[in-house]
Amino acid sequence: MTINKLPVKIDPFKMCLAGESLQGVLLLRHCRRLKEYLSDEIVIDDDFVINVRLDFSALEDDNGSHFFVKGKIVSSMPLICNRCLQSFMQNISVKIDYLIFKKEDKKQENYIVMPDNEPIHLLDFIEDELILSIALSPKHKKIDDCDDDMLKYLV
Ligand SMILES: [Zn+2]
Repeated sequence: MTINKLPVKIDPFKMCLAGESLQGVLLLRHCRRLKEYLSDEIVIDDDFVINVRLDFSALEDDNGSHFFVKGKIVSSMPLICNRCLQSFMQNISVKIDYLIFKKEDKKQENYIVMPDNEPIHLLDFIEDELILSIALSPKHKKIDDCDDDMLKYLV
């Protein structure tokens, strides 16, 4: 596997105007805020990666310029099952599909606000998306996958 180094900071509006794409991996262990949600029974080494693909684009119409970021964030991470309290590996796939604005726009759905003329931390953005997608009570897909003894003990 070739690992493309992703930039630390990006200027989303510039990237939209240039129609740029990003593809590469980040290391899960660099996500300090996300760590709070992960099981600490499993050591997060360099094998735990986050695959990132982001496509930036801009569209001009009568109302001005519109900026888009679309893509996918895929990773596998050890979570703690909320039902049986055991660690399990969860595949996370987050679809990114946003309009990007320079300021709040209450009329629009599915948008994010990013600072103009100020680069953003790519890792922070990715981490936020991952936290949003796992924060809602993670658990084993099937109750059969849960630890039987723990279930008996907890009920
Ligand atoms: Zn479970």
